[in-house]
Amino acid sequence: MLEAKESSGSGGKPMRKRFRVVLFLSLVLSCPSTQGQLTSPEPGLAKTNMDSLKPAPFTLVILPDTQFYSLQYPQIFTAQAKWIVDNKEEKSIVFVLHEGDITHNNTESEWQNANESISILDDVVPYALAPGNHDSGRNGNTRDTELFNTHFSLNRYQNLPTFGGVYEPDKMDNCYHLFSAGGVDWLILVLEFGPRDDVLTWANQMVADNPGRQVIILTHTYLYSDDTLHGSKASHKWNPHNYGLAGGTGGANDGVEMWDKLVRLHENISFVINGHILNDGVGRLVSVGDHGNQVYQILANYQMLKDGGSGWLRLMEFVPELKKVSVKTYSPHLDQYNTHEQHEFELEENVDFFDKSTTAVAPQSKLSNMWGDIKGL
Ligand SMILES: [Zn+2]
Repeated sequence: MLEAKESSGSGGKPMRKRFRVVLFLSLVLSCPSTQGQLTSPEPGLAKTNMDSLKPAPFTLVILPDTQFYSLQYPQIFTAQAKWIVDNKEEKSIVFVLHEGDITHNNTESEWQNANESISILDDVVPYALAPGNHDSGRNGNTRDTELFNTHFSLNRYQNLPTFGGVYEPDKMDNCYHLFSAGGVDWLILVLEFGPRDDVLTWANQMVADNPGRQVIILTHTYLYSDDTLHGSKASHKWNPHNYGLAGGTGGANDGVEMWDKLVRLHENISFVINGHILNDGVGRLVSVGDHGNQVYQILANYQMLKDGGSGWLRLMEFVPELKKVSVKTYSPHLDQYNTHEQHEFELEENVDFFDKSTTAVAPQSKLSNMWGDIKGL
């Protein structure tokens, strides 16, 4: 897979993979949430005070498929979680996103292993978990996620300030989280493996109901290792339609269908993050949605490597002041970075979501109402 490709989602308009930073844009313009203060400073306002008003850099951690850690190498999963906790302050880690296939055989002992590792994050850094095909029935033959929901229950998360709500009562398969960082309000939308049609209807509503938030979609499969949407070629393997769960009510949707039915439709969707795909396990694609917004779609999966993935995780480092996002790949197990261009790169310069205005996190009463509405679905 080549690093730089002309990218186009199914229906997305081609755009250059990289372009140079637009230097003439002042830092003032790049910081919408502090624009007022910086363009009209109080007389005598010290520079240090002005600097403190700039949106601070922050990091999201992506945990690719951990199925073999839960099955066979729980110490590697634990090393990842411990590293996140130990580096939370230094790297300003604000959220952890697990791409799914938390377990391999969906057994009680694997879930116990996973829980032991993930619990290290509890009360330290919020996280989102996307169930994969291996977390659902027996390798996705059904949408039975009872063990997932037993160990990572709604009850465990519903009172967290970052928790938004769920699609189905008492099920974490499809849910959303809220946080603010870098001067932007964010919404993480977690969608099940090959989401059903009704799940996409709900997802559309959630995104539309939160126009002031930039949305990160976290789902187990979406982008393929050839940098095209999963399902865009007949040669693509591991399509959700090829798993038993696709035969249930509501069917299943692959990457192409998710783009057409959800992702392309909303101006405020910025990212889609997924794992699942083997081959070289990495890919990225920048597409332009129907409203002209850039959508960054990133695949990372290391399960095929030594020891079930050698502990490789992804760091997405956001630098609002420079309108820059750097992606790095690091293994706490090996204490190494992988600096190959497929594993360490920057998103398009001048990423457009930093231009979006931001508001404070919705008041708790609003969240409660949203929660109440959703719970009844
Ligand atoms: Zn998978």
